Amino acid sequence: MIVRDKLYIGGQWVAPSATPSIDVHRAGDGAVMGTVPAGAAKDIDAAVNAARNALPDWSALPVAQRADFLQKISDGLKARADELAKTIAQEVGMPVKMSARIQAGLPIANFANYARIAREFSFEERVGNSVVVREPVGVVGAITPWNYPLHQIALKIAPALAAGCTVVLKPSEVAPFNAFILAEVIDAAGLPKGVFNLVTGLGATVGEALVSHPLVDMISFTGSTRAGKRISEVAAQTVKRVALELGGKSAAVILDDADLAGAVKSTVGNCYLNSGQTCTALTRMLVPESKYAEAARLAAEVANGFTPGDPLSEATRLGPLASSMQLERVRSYIRKGAAEGAELLAGGAEAPEGVPAGGYYVKPTVFGKVRPGSTLEQEEIFGPVLSIVTYKDEEDAIRIANDTPYGLAGAVWSKDEARAQRVARRIRAGQVDVNGGAFNMNAPFGGFKQSGHGREAGVYGLEEFLEYKSLQLKG
Ligand code: NAD
Repeated sequence: MIVRDKLYIGGQWVAPSATPSIDVHRAGDGAVMGTVPAGAAKDIDAAVNAARNALPDWSALPVAQRADFLQKISDGLKARADELAKTIAQEVGMPVKMSARIQAGLPIANFANYARIAREFSFEERVGNSVVVREPVGVVGAITPWNYPLHQIALKIAPALAAGCTVVLKPSEVAPFNAFILAEVIDAAGLPKGVFNLVTGLGATVGEALVSHPLVDMISFTGSTRAGKRISEVAAQTVKRVALELGGKSAAVILDDADLAGAVKSTVGNCYLNSGQTCTALTRMLVPESKYAEAARLAAEVANGFTPGDPLSEATRLGPLASSMQLERVRSYIRKGAAEGAELLAGGAEAPEGVPAGGYYVKPTVFGKVRPGSTLEQEEIFGPVLSIVTYKDEEDAIRIANDTPYGLAGAVWSKDEARAQRVARRIRAGQVDVNGGAFNMNAPFGGFKQSGHGREAGVYGLEEFLEYKSLQLKG
C-alpha cells in the first residue's frame, strides 16, 4: 500500500486541512494500491498564496538559472525512471515496457527540452519605437488527466516554470502517485519554496476551487470536453486565461492509392495505444468502399494479435483500462455499436479470457460498416475500439473526417505524398500524420473545435505561459 497523506505546499509536506482520502485502484487487478489526500478549498487557497508569494523572485531569476532547475528535475526523474514506469503501469494499465518509454521517458525528455528552449528563447524584441517584452502570465493552476499523467503534467509545469510562472498542480485522482514522485524530485532539486505546489483531490471541489481562485492568473487544463466546458464557465468569472486540451475522435484517411496493409496496421496500433486511452487516438479508419472487405479482414487480423494481459508483464502489448468506470463506459459503447447495426469484426463487450481477475480488461474491438453520424462514429470512447467507415471519393472522405465536434488529430495515407499533404491540410485538426510520420515533441500539440484551444509542446508550449508587454520609448 502506498499511503500519501501530505500535500506539497510552500516547499513543505503539510497535512491536508481535512482527513478524507481517495482510494487509488490498480488497473491490472482492481485492488486498492494506495490512498492520497482528498484535499479541500482551504488547501488550494494555501497553495495559491504560496505560489503568489514565490512569483516575484522566481520570475525575476535569470532564465539560465530557471533552465538549470528544469535540467535538475529531468535528471531527478531519470534517476527514478523505473519506479515511475512501474507506478504508472499500475495506475493507468499501460504495459510496463511502453510505460518506461512513454510515461516516464517523455516527461524526462520534456523537462530537459524546456531547459534548452528557455535558454534559446528570445524574451524581448524591438518593434519600431517599442520594446516588446514577454513576461510570465503569473500563477498557473494546472489540472491534469490520468491517461498520460506525468506527460500531461510535464507539458504544463516545465514550460510554466521556464516562463517564470509559479504553479499549483491538481493531478488526476485516478493516477496521482506519479505526481508525488515529481514533487519529491522538485523538492530535492531545491526549487525555491512555493514555486511548485501539489494539491490532490476531486475535480468538482479542489479543481473548481483552483479555477475560481482570484489569485490564479491562468488555468491550463487537459481532460474531457465536459470538464473543459465547466472550467471555461467558472474561469470566466475572474477573466483568467484558459488553455484547454480536450478529447478527440480522430480519423485516419486511407486514400485509394495507399499501401493498405501498412496503413491498416499502423492505424490499429495507434488506436490501441494505451488501450485506446489516448486523446489523439485514430479511432475512425476511413477506407474507400471498394477496399472495405480487404481493410476489414486486415484490421481484424491485426486486432486479434493484441492479446490483453497484465501490464507488469514485459510481454504484454495491450493492458487493461484505467478504472472500473472506464470499463463500464467502453463496454456500453461496444454494446451500443452492435445495437446501432455496425458489423463486429473483432472483440466484443464480454470480458476477455486469461487475464488477471479483478482487472479492467476489454477485448480489442473492431467495428466495420460504421455509419457516419452514429454514436460509435461521433463520440470519444477512450478504449480499444476501432470504427471502419467507408467513403465514396476524396471529397467524401474529407467531409466525414471533419464531421465531428472534435478536431484534435488525424492521419492521411497515400502513395502520392503531395496528394496526402493536400488532404492533410484540409483536415481541421491540430496535428495530422502523413504516411505514418513520427510524433515530434517540438511540434505544437492541441486542438481545433471542441478539442480545445491553446498549444502545448516545444516553443509553442512556452508561449502559452507568457504575456506581451510593450514599452514605448521616446528616443
Ligand atoms: P476529466 O475531465 O474527468 O478529468 C481531468 C482532470 O480534471 C482531473 O484532474 C479531474 O479531477 C479534473 N476535473 C474534473 N472536473 C472538474 C471541474 N469541474 N473543475 C476542475 N477540475 C475538474 O478527464 P479524464 O477522465 O481524467 O481524462 C480523459 C479525458 O481527457 C479524455 O476526454 C481525453 O480525450 C482527454 N485528454 C485530452 C488530451 C489532450 O491533450 N487533448 C490529453 C489527454 C487526455
